Amino acid sequence: MALSGLQIYKLLPKTNCKDCGFPTCLAFAMKLAAKQASLDDCPHVSQEAKEALSAAAAPPIRLVKVGTGEKQFEVGNETVMFRHEKTFFHQPGLALRVKDTDDASTIAEKVKMVNDYCVERVGIDMTFNAVAIENASGDAGAYAEVVKAVRSQTELPFVLMSGDMAALEAALDVEGGHRPVLYAATADNWEAMAGLAKGKQVSLAIRSKDGLDELADLTTKLGDAGIEDLVLDPGSRDLAGSLAQVTQLRRLALKKNFRALGHPIIAFPGELADTEEGEIVAATQFIAKYAGIIVVDRFDPAVAYPLLTLRLNIYTDPQKPISVDPGIYDFNSPTADSPLMTTTNFSLTYFSVAGELDGSGIPSWLLICDAEGMSVLTAWAAGKFDAETIAKAVKTFDAGGKISQKKIILPGHVAVLSGELEEELPGWEILVGPREAVDLPAYLKQL
Ligand code: SF4
Repeated sequence: MALSGLQIYKLLPKTNCKDCGFPTCLAFAMKLAAKQASLDDCPHVSQEAKEALSAAAAPPIRLVKVGTGEKQFEVGNETVMFRHEKTFFHQPGLALRVKDTDDASTIAEKVKMVNDYCVERVGIDMTFNAVAIENASGDAGAYAEVVKAVRSQTELPFVLMSGDMAALEAALDVEGGHRPVLYAATADNWEAMAGLAKGKQVSLAIRSKDGLDELADLTTKLGDAGIEDLVLDPGSRDLAGSLAQVTQLRRLALKKNFRALGHPIIAFPGELADTEEGEIVAATQFIAKYAGIIVVDRFDPAVAYPLLTLRLNIYTDPQKPISVDPGIYDFNSPTADSPLMTTTNFSLTYFSVAGELDGSGIPSWLLICDAEGMSVLTAWAAGKFDAETIAKAVKTFDAGGKISQKKIILPGHVAVLSGELEEELPGWEILVGPREAVDLPAYLKQL
């Protein structure tokens, strides 16, 4: 049973020391009750209170770890319905499904594609996270052979899909101890599945044929059997039905603190659609709401890139822009005669400008100012990217020491700052560059 804010408050030290980042213990207690703060943020809470508060402090959606080592990913532990309330924490793992009925070369080709695919955006490597291997043949030996072959190609975690205990057991023996997810326990086989998952210490997905009541019943039975790392497939295979189910699951876990359904969700967008376009639409829906593992049936880089970008955007903290470190960055081995530009430390701004400078082949310097991670115009409007800030960065990073002629190029959007910057930087010439990063190479050539 969830504790109210006042019940939690009674167990806190009540010193209002603010070390937790909240102005009072009561404010912290209210946030804790709303699952928008962590008990760990209060360094003064007693062990006795910690134990009493453990239920209130436990994440409403369990954190499940899939895989091991560098390729491990975590899902669950979300605390809000909408990202603007706080943020979404653990982006869904994307998996590509192969079947043991596919021929070996097709499987190898698919696994190679998903294993090798990596694109960088705003300094972050975006990749797929797992391979799902389905025992479509019904043959345990053939399944184990395929699992073994796929493992020889990749360290990615697996989702092992079969209803046959012998096939899963054989697959677990050869998958290499990388903590896969077993899919799926049902009302018919949950006891055997529980034995297997417990014996091998792996996570277990549950598929319901009969809606959320059956799902809750199964999670309770599996919890009693000692299986806590559960992933839920609520069963619907149409867009509207699955959206309703995943939303209900999230609401029940967060708003009602209904522990039986407080587990990450696994989704199969390819099973909601017959076409590639349909699968993309469903995958998009599951990224936005509220899947923890998404198993797709088709892999095309032209589709993977926008899906990964969407995932990155949705799981970026809306209150903390992605930023780069302020400082002076160099491109194409600049010298003292190379031009010096400046812009803000918003990642997207930095990487847009950096991409153009790098690609132009023109040696240049780029001074990145601390504008609290905002883009040029937003920072200017908020007073975070003004003449004073730029002049301070010029001095802090000794930009004058890098170049022989004291010239600095402003982004075209803040041409209005040139007069003030001249006053802040006596002896410097202030130039106004283009508004868009894409026009930088042409601008630099004519300089
Ligand atoms: Fe109260 Fe703990 Fe926050 Fe201090 S850190 S204000 S004691 S809840």
